[in-house]
Amino acid sequence: MPFPIKVCAVCGEEFELKPDKPGFANRCPACSETEIAGPAKGRMDAVERKNAKEANEARRQAMRDLLYRKDS
Ligand SMILES: [Zn+2]
Repeated sequence: MPFPIKVCAVCGEEFELKPDKPGFANRCPACSETEIAGPAKGRMDAVERKNAKEANEARRQAMRDLLYRKDS
């Protein structure tokens, strides 16, 4: 049975999505490997995502405080 063919989100290459493929489902094995190995760019992206997430949570928390204060 053939595996589904996906296009890698990183390099644009087509690859077979095998069930036991490590890493992201939208990345070819080569790009998954570099991601798992932890290149500087990958770490940077992770930090940026973390910062964005924390900023979002802080904003949500501030909003919640505002609403809560208005209610009471
Ligand atoms: Zn790729």
